[in-house]
Amino acid sequence: MLVYNSQTHRKQELEPIESGKIRMYVCGPTVYDQIHIGNARTFLSFDVIRRYLMFKGYEVTFAQNLTDVDDKIINRANEQGRSAAEVAEEYSDKFIEQMHRFGILDPDIRPRATREIEAMQEMISLLVEQGNAYPVPSGDVYFSVRSDKAYGVLSGRDLDQLRAGERVEVNDEKRDPFDFALWKAAKPGEPSWPSPWGDGRPGWHTECCAMIHRYLGTPIDIHGGGADLVFPHHENETAQAMCAWHAPLANVWMHTGMLQINEEKMSKSLGNFYTLKEVLDRYPANVVRILMLQTHYRAPLDFSFDRLDGASSSLERLVGCVKNLRWAADAAPQDGHLTDADRALSNAINEAERGFTAAMDDDFNTAGGMAAIFGLVSAANKYLAEAAGTIETSVSLRSADCIMELCGVLGIDLSKDTKQSELPMELVSLAAERAQYEGDDPEEAAQALLAARQEARSNRDWGTADAIRDGIAALGLLVEDTAAGARLRRK
Ligand code: AMP
Ligand code: ZN
Repeated sequence: MLVYNSQTHRKQELEPIESGKIRMYVCGPTVYDQIHIGNARTFLSFDVIRRYLMFKGYEVTFAQNLTDVDDKIINRANEQGRSAAEVAEEYSDKFIEQMHRFGILDPDIRPRATREIEAMQEMISLLVEQGNAYPVPSGDVYFSVRSDKAYGVLSGRDLDQLRAGERVEVNDEKRDPFDFALWKAAKPGEPSWPSPWGDGRPGWHTECCAMIHRYLGTPIDIHGGGADLVFPHHENETAQAMCAWHAPLANVWMHTGMLQINEEKMSKSLGNFYTLKEVLDRYPANVVRILMLQTHYRAPLDFSFDRLDGASSSLERLVGCVKNLRWAADAAPQDGHLTDADRALSNAINEAERGFTAAMDDDFNTAGGMAAIFGLVSAANKYLAEAAGTIETSVSLRSADCIMELCGVLGIDLSKDTKQSELPMELVSLAAERAQYEGDDPEEAAQALLAARQEARSNRDWGTADAIRDGIAALGLLVEDTAAGARLRRK
């Protein structure tokens, strides 16, 4: 399968270092606030990449850090009159909670910077001994970018051109403006640890590099993050690894495109952001996933609530198709005789599987993968409409299973949405009957059901919510979900 390596700027065959195994690392969040959906896009992309590698049979070891000591955390703690450790713990928990809500698999290893100080100090000592780093009187330790011949290769930058173009922190103690802090001397009131260079804390770039080496060993197969991390973070990570252990940090570097809103990168500093939590409070995880996977992970992704509404309809199409296929299979006589329509659907299943893997094998083209799934949905809907009365149970169920499975590889879990829900259907038909019996206004009865459906949705009980929607339909009304909430319309 082909993977785009941002270091070489081309797609290349994925060749695991150890046969059948992939070791991958994705830079985690700085835990000072709820993450925004731009961050979530990057984490989602790598969740799908990881899931697909597992689907292909690789044994994947996935590590992701939590940056739990940083200026942003310290500033937030000072604003709130709390300790940095308290802030970091609160937002680490909140991050993990939202990742679970979003259906992102837990990493196999989740190191926290504050618990890895020893590994970082070992790496810094090695760099100082080998002449790649130097302590200064203030207690900082800097990495000397000039000591690494390959500095700039990953991000395609030339140090001499950089000097003219990019802004860097000016500091008299640095030998070169691009030298970066491996260790930062303690300031009053900040978290710090003892070290051979005095009390202090690690620099951000040091963290990932030391943790990768400790937990995965270097080089690893895949190192990932958002495209905004290529320079300086990943350039600095790889420079440290190359100088400390004389081997690259990663074979393949993968970077996700930025999620943007009104064509501008979504970021905390621009203030144009939505948190993952607020979006998941309004839309099911599957809908957000579908929206994000419609764009290739390397391309910029335009976010809007209109597009989320579109993704809601796509999810309904998937769920409706699976339910109808199962319902038709249940109701069908099983004579085992295949008609032309059965054979056509059977071919469509094979075509979906082939199309899905072909797209995903080509640098994880999730949009192509989804198109393959929706191709099968169209074929199945046509089959259900045209073959009514001669439905073949096995073909019908096999297509439902195929849709479920391929969606599952993308982390779109349809099992809850497609679950049949008994109790509310009874409740719904009772209400419908009563409305007719007692001459109640069906619209009023439906409004009451709409409230029950909203409640089921806020409890994330999609099965019940869908059953109630079907009951409302029995009253001759349609439910429309809009950005402003659910609305009723006559059929
Ligand atoms: P941070 O906590 O800022 O280090 O960000 C965590 C991850 O989110 C990093 O991999 C960033 O590259 C990524 N990221 C930040 N902003 C965006 C965005 N607008 N779109 C996609 N990924 C982003
Ligand atoms: Zn990192």
